[in-house]
Amino acid sequence: MVDLKNQYLKIKNEIDDAIINCVENTQFINGPSVNTFQNALQSYLNVKHVIPCANGTDSLQIAMMALDLKPGDEVICPAFTYVATAEVIGLLGLIPVMVDVDPNTFNITAEIIEQAITTKTKAIVPVHLYGQSCDMEPIINLAKKHKLFIIEDNAQAIGSEYTFSDGTRAKTGTMGDIGSISFFPSKNLGCFGDGGALTTNNDELAYKMRMIANHGQEVKYFHKILGCNSRLDTIQAAILNVKLKKLDEYIDSRNQMSKYYDLKLESNKKVQIPVRQKNSNHVFHQYTLRVKDGARNDLQKYLSVHKIPSMIYYPFPLYKQPAFEKYVPFDFVIPNVEQLCSEVISIPIHTEINLEHMNYICEKINQF
Ligand SMILES: *Cc1c(COP(=O)(O)O)cnc(C)c1O
Repeated sequence: MVDLKNQYLKIKNEIDDAIINCVENTQFINGPSVNTFQNALQSYLNVKHVIPCANGTDSLQIAMMALDLKPGDEVICPAFTYVATAEVIGLLGLIPVMVDVDPNTFNITAEIIEQAITTKTKAIVPVHLYGQSCDMEPIINLAKKHKLFIIEDNAQAIGSEYTFSDGTRAKTGTMGDIGSISFFPSKNLGCFGDGGALTTNNDELAYKMRMIANHGQEVKYFHKILGCNSRLDTIQAAILNVKLKKLDEYIDSRNQMSKYYDLKLESNKKVQIPVRQKNSNHVFHQYTLRVKDGARNDLQKYLSVHKIPSMIYYPFPLYKQPAFEKYVPFDFVIPNVEQLCSEVISIPIHTEINLEHMNYICEKINQF
């Protein structure tokens, strides 16, 4: 699905130097690269604060902890997302309210969110799925109207940009109260292990989240609130410093690959190519097709026989997972989401374009 080996080989010297530097310097925790990376990411995203942390699940959890939500408060999130989004909500004793998504963009919308708002609703978690921004303007207006917090799950869309109706633009993760990023190796900006970060323009929230990520301490050995231990390793930050400079180039490569796939697959009536929104660019964390006529599983088998990797993100709605069944009535169903779970298939998309591979993949899909 990704070609991390060849990506590494192209920047091997820089990466190896950065790692050796950390090893020789021995400041493995909070070394100088962490601060450098934090500042570089702040300017890349044009956001006031970046708080590095251990992974993209912790960042969601730290975000929720910083908002002073109370057990029983409801947090609206899509039912069609990675487990982490809803998991942290449940872990903190909050209620994940899992809702539908737009079947074209795979993202939640203001209309869908509005139907789920109750007197207990305190926050919304829009997930910018597969690399495209949710339609944020109406979501922000809705949140203002109902006094709800917005935590953007930006794990898959770093670098994506949204355009408001007045023409102003903002990077995903900088439009809500807090944004959450993952640097898992296969994400668009991936490190060589786990890593994550929080983004916010709110000074107070930034201060609090930094404290929570560091055992709730303001000053060493003075613990003001309950926190956790969630840090970005110095070595991972050093790697990210090298790779952040390449991020726009990586996004370009993914877009080139997506355009080629579009070209070869758009006339195939049995698959739906990704729908591109007008007000967001796409960073193609995933290139996800919808396969018609119940043929998705057979297509996946066919691709596998021909040695083509593919993945189903996501095979089950969250509410169907045993971990989440207590949050919904026994016969709860969201038809759109169930349909997506049975139709989607993601095919390889990454930074190391190889025309021959892309041709082969499209040829096999079209043959099928
Ligand atoms: C990857 C991902 C996460 C979690 O990130 P980790 O760094 O693996 O903890 C959260 N939400 C979404 C949508 C993701 O894709």
